[in-house]
Amino acid sequence: MTSFTLHGIPVSRGIAIGRAHILAPAALDVQHYLIADDQVEAEVARLQDAITLVHAELQNIWNELPADAPAELGAFIDVHALILSDPMISEMPLDIIRSRYYNAEWALVTQIEELSAQFEEIEDTYLRERKSDIQQVGERVLKALTGSANILPKGEGAEGGASMIVVAHDISPADMLQFRNRAFSGFITDVGGQNSHTAIVARSLDIPATVGVSNASRLIDQGDWLIIDGDAGVVVVAPNSVVLDQYREKQARQMRERKKLGKLKKMPSVTLDGTPITLLANIEFPDDCAHAMDAGAHGIGLFRSEFLFMGRTGHANQLPSEDEQFESYKKAVIAMKGRPVTIRTLDIGADKPMDFAEQTALNPALGLRAIRFCLSEPQMFLTQLRAILRASAFGPIKLLVPMLAHAFEIDQTLLMIEQAKAQLREQKIKFDAELPVGAMIEIPAAALSLPMFIKRLDFLSLGTNDLIQYALAIDRVDHEVAHLYNPLHPAVLYLISTTIAMAAKAGIPISVCGEMAGDVQMTRLLLGMGLREFSMHPSQLLAVKNEILNSDLNALTPLTRKIVRSFEQEEIIEAVERLRVM
Ligand code: PEP
Ligand code: MG
Repeated sequence: MTSFTLHGIPVSRGIAIGRAHILAPAALDVQHYLIADDQVEAEVARLQDAITLVHAELQNIWNELPADAPAELGAFIDVHALILSDPMISEMPLDIIRSRYYNAEWALVTQIEELSAQFEEIEDTYLRERKSDIQQVGERVLKALTGSANILPKGEGAEGGASMIVVAHDISPADMLQFRNRAFSGFITDVGGQNSHTAIVARSLDIPATVGVSNASRLIDQGDWLIIDGDAGVVVVAPNSVVLDQYREKQARQMRERKKLGKLKKMPSVTLDGTPITLLANIEFPDDCAHAMDAGAHGIGLFRSEFLFMGRTGHANQLPSEDEQFESYKKAVIAMKGRPVTIRTLDIGADKPMDFAEQTALNPALGLRAIRFCLSEPQMFLTQLRAILRASAFGPIKLLVPMLAHAFEIDQTLLMIEQAKAQLREQKIKFDAELPVGAMIEIPAAALSLPMFIKRLDFLSLGTNDLIQYALAIDRVDHEVAHLYNPLHPAVLYLISTTIAMAAKAGIPISVCGEMAGDVQMTRLLLGMGLREFSMHPSQLLAVKNEILNSDLNALTPLTRKIVRSFEQEEIIEAVERLRVM
């Protein structure tokens, strides 16, 4: 096969080499058509053949289970085989073909939807959870019917050293979660932007990813050899041996550089002129604290608590209970051993939808998301606030509120925190009465009315991802406008630099927790603006630290002042490049 190259948006660094695993939700592509009388039995036979094929496939997976595979895995395959044999799946769709003249795929999907709806009604949690098994079996049969591969590969990645690269039209952040424990070496999606949450999760998994590669999932075939250059946003399909060797060498070089950076872990984080810089980590789950500690983070600057609320299909409760949340927050606090943990309250909505809440807003990024949603669901919000407060008895916690823009929102939030405290006092439950409360500055209106925030809150954190989205009016998940996403736009630099300067003048701590904080191209610019606290994914921490250790604020500051006064894009880009080689 001839080699070709695709271009997309680089979102997570590094080189990945492996075979393509196409992830196409079959149910989405199902064709619906009516068949003629004389085609009925052929259509029935087609579905029967697919079911037989899946039986054999499941048997194969069983036979090839490694000796050390967990026992549940075998049981899980048995359940799927049983479901497949049940007349509800093996016979009812055949009846639908015969009685309604539906094509095989349509008949199968109709029956799966019918069964899923019935399961939804079941009280018993265990049985209700079997709904997803039925859907997975249905997917397998659909894939067999359409001749495409299974949803997830049998093995856990490596096969003779060749790891797997997931190729999909799109991967939701919730779906990404299922990859956390699987050995995939890279991701490619047709859609997405630099700072979509899918991209952010890919970075947190620390594996190379390129998004917005138009038509990748159509142009790449199952099993194709692929190279992802996550730094350039390039995907090479079916590379020849010369190209493969070049990239293997580049990959080895990057590994060596990473190893070198590893030596910086224990070094104090100070600039050449002796200014200490705080390096914090962004996490999605309490378990990520281990990476943060390993990278030498001074604490957690952003715990995106919404990830505890996502991917809950199959859970008895749609929302995590107070105790469940408390355990998660406590786990993070204990793992950080006395270093502060900044927990952001639920920032759900837009590209982080909850499984159960159907999103109908025309512009969800401008809709009832984050604090707006929380204030409209006071009981849910109070539950989270109580859980966070309870965990604060076990170590230093700071509470961070996303998407604030109005004084009344701040006041209402503070009032609810007081209400949660009062409830805990009544129950004689301990918490940190002085728990610092801060705001994300991520809506331009917030940056432009900073005194309103300074007056009411204990600390600030610049969410540059959303700040850029809203300042430039470009949807951060829409790849068609991804080229307009520009952290160096003069307006963006104005908002960031004035916010940092005003906070410094008022003596209120401020950090940046958006993706800019973890981008080494931006480190010196932010230092020059006066930023002293950076929060980023643990995987980026040492590279940023390396930049800090080699920076002299005395030299940087005057040049940065000039940059933020410029309103010429080219001039800004050139000057930022000059900052990097100073
Ligand atoms: C941001 O907007 O910059 C931010 C850190 O929050 P999130 O990416 O989760 O929206
Ligand atoms: Mg945000």
